[in-house]
Amino acid sequence: MVTDSLRRTLWINPAFSALTGYQLEDLLGKDPGEVLQGRDTDPDTAERIREATHHRQELRCEVQNYTRSGTAYWVDLRIVPVHDDTGRHTHYVSTLRDITERKSLEDQNEEMRQAEAMRQDERQLLAQTSEWLYSARSSDELMMVVRRAMHTLIPEADGALYVYATARDTLDLAASWGSMPAFTPRIAPDDCWALRRGRAYSYGMKAIEFPCDHVHGDAPPPFFCLPIIAHGETIGLLHLRFDGFEETGMLRHMREGVLRNRWELGLICAEQISLAIANVRLRHELHDRSVRDPLTGIWNRRWFLDAMQRALRRNSTTGNALSLILLDVDHFKRFNDDHGHDAGDLVLQAVGEVLRDHLPEHCQPCRLGGEEFVILCNDTDADAAAALAARIATALSSQTLQHDRSALPPVTVSGGIATAPHHGQTAEGLLRAADQALYAAKNNGRNRIECARTQVEQIATPATPGSQNQSIQKGA
Ligand code: GH3
Ligand code: MG
Ligand code: MG
Repeated sequence: MVTDSLRRTLWINPAFSALTGYQLEDLLGKDPGEVLQGRDTDPDTAERIREATHHRQELRCEVQNYTRSGTAYWVDLRIVPVHDDTGRHTHYVSTLRDITERKSLEDQNEEMRQAEAMRQDERQLLAQTSEWLYSARSSDELMMVVRRAMHTLIPEADGALYVYATARDTLDLAASWGSMPAFTPRIAPDDCWALRRGRAYSYGMKAIEFPCDHVHGDAPPPFFCLPIIAHGETIGLLHLRFDGFEETGMLRHMREGVLRNRWELGLICAEQISLAIANVRLRHELHDRSVRDPLTGIWNRRWFLDAMQRALRRNSTTGNALSLILLDVDHFKRFNDDHGHDAGDLVLQAVGEVLRDHLPEHCQPCRLGGEEFVILCNDTDADAAAALAARIATALSSQTLQHDRSALPPVTVSGGIATAPHHGQTAEGLLRAADQALYAAKNNGRNRIECARTQVEQIATPATPGSQNQSIQKGA
């Protein structure tokens, strides 16, 4: 193309016509930029062309133009100013090379690069999420991570996590997230297609489909129901609802693309959450097992020592009293020797049961080992502890235990009480004081409770052959 010094078109060659669809008469006398450029032409590039030709400079650039019939194409444009013999600028000669194909490949590459970057981000987020999910120590902590992670990973969806109640007749809302989470607090397994059919269910992506009963409204938005399965058992449901799609004005085919991607992502999330819930439960079970006595089901020595430290730390600031009641079954060996080891176990279980049933919430029973038990009594002074010990001893000795269809002799205990801070300020100190009191109770005839340094009370037990010290004694 040749223009004069003011960019008025003078001449074009046949290749120009073939590329652009314009004949010379369409352009003659006109600025080619005004004819060739269009809607998506980069305004900065258009400005650069204007500037260069204004200053009579040479220019090379890539610009998007439009054919006569309106089809966009890209050209590699080169504009060269031409001068006459005297050096006066007279014309511009422009060449246009069609680079549409290369541009389209570049665009595709860019799209692919962006999609790959998005997938990379997703993978990274997922990896971070699963790391957090596995670090959760309690269900509360886990739900916090789920809420945060799901909202970040699938921002278009409001969501809820339901977990089966122990009775397995309903699923309870354990966590929800999003802008307008109005999820039903409880769903019946029959109300959900995913739970009924035992596999993930999507609504809003297929020609024939029915909403679940737990999703209310006549025309519900697209939603996913993804079962949470651990060790082959369904333990919950991840529910994702795409409420905001209509308002975003996203085109239908794009919406479907996003939904398909979210479906895949949702499935992975459900799997991760399943593993994390199983992990927390296992952790909880293992911890529980490590701090419980398997025979009686009450706390064990390990729990007791930890709990003691915690209680003493707490009390050092509150100044509340804290008492220990150490209990030891009298002549326990006789149960084993006379009635067998099973009978001995039965006695220990009976002690555990009485302790569980007769203690207020702030008093915790533990089996230290053998036939020795301790009760950690928070906010309890020596008198209150003595009264509690007497109640326990009476409840135990008035029970008749049956073993092999015969009645076992009554179970009596001796007890030692120590109270912080009077008898000790450390776990070891207190336990030693209680142990000394217990030793005194044994020495003074068994079936009685002694307080550290001070004898508190002797227990009134139903008259049993050979039982001694029936009277209440006070004083050292
Ligand atoms: P005392 O009145 O002085 O406490 O006498 P005792 O017979 O209760 O105490 P001793 O320490 O002589 O005997 C405790 C016995 O408890 C010895 C041990 O074999 C038995 N024992 C320890 N653990 C268990 C258990 O888990 N089950 C059963 N059946 N017996 C146990
Ligand atoms: Mg004993
Ligand atoms: Mg003992």
